[in-house]
Amino acid sequence: SPFPIFLAGAVQKGFGRGGKDLGVPTANLPDESITPMTHVCQPGVYFGYAQVAGLPGEEAKVHPMVMSLGWNPFYKNERLTAEIHIMSDFKADFYQHDMKTLVLGYIRPELDYISREALIEDIQTDKRVALNSLARPGYEKFAEDAHFDL
Ligand code: ADP
Ligand code: MG
Repeated sequence: SPFPIFLAGAVQKGFGRGGKDLGVPTANLPDESITPMTHVCQPGVYFGYAQVAGLPGEEAKVHPMVMSLGWNPFYKNERLTAEIHIMSDFKADFYQHDMKTLVLGYIRPELDYISREALIEDIQTDKRVALNSLARPGYEKFAEDAHFDL
C-alpha cells in the first residue's frame, strides 16, 4: 500500500465547482504538491487527516478529511487535482494558508453523477466511511504524526 502519503502546500483558489454550494467546501493543494500521489494512486476519493496553519484557535488541530483526486477540466483533463474537505467548521476561508495532509486510504473511484442529490448522498457516505476507518485500531496514531505541527 502507498499509504501514508504526506502532502502539503498553500491552499489555492479552486474552480468554483460548487463545493460550498453543496455544503462541502474543498480546499485545493497546489498542483506540484500532489505529484508524488499521482504517481502511485488512481483518481478517486481518499480519506485521512489534515491541518491548516495560521488560524486562531487551530494550532495543533488535526482533523479528519476526505479528498477527491480527480481530473481537472481547467487543464483539459490532462492534470489531476486534489480537493480536500476537512471535517470541521471553520469560521472563515483559509486561502493561501499552509495545509498539511496525510492520506491514509482509498474509499472509491470517482463517478459521474446524474443528480446533485446523488452526489451529496455519496459525499455523506464518504465522510462516514472516513470517520469509521480513522476510528480503527492503528489509525489514531496518524493524527499525531511527526509531519504535523503539534
Ligand atoms: P474553491 O473552488 O475555491 O475551492 P470551495 O467552494 O470549494 O471553493 O471552497 C473552498 C474553500 O473554503 C477552501 O479553500 C477554504 O478556504 C474554505 N473552507 C472553509 N471550510 C472548509 C472546510 N471544512 N474544508 C475545506 N475548505 C474549507
Ligand atoms: Mg473547492
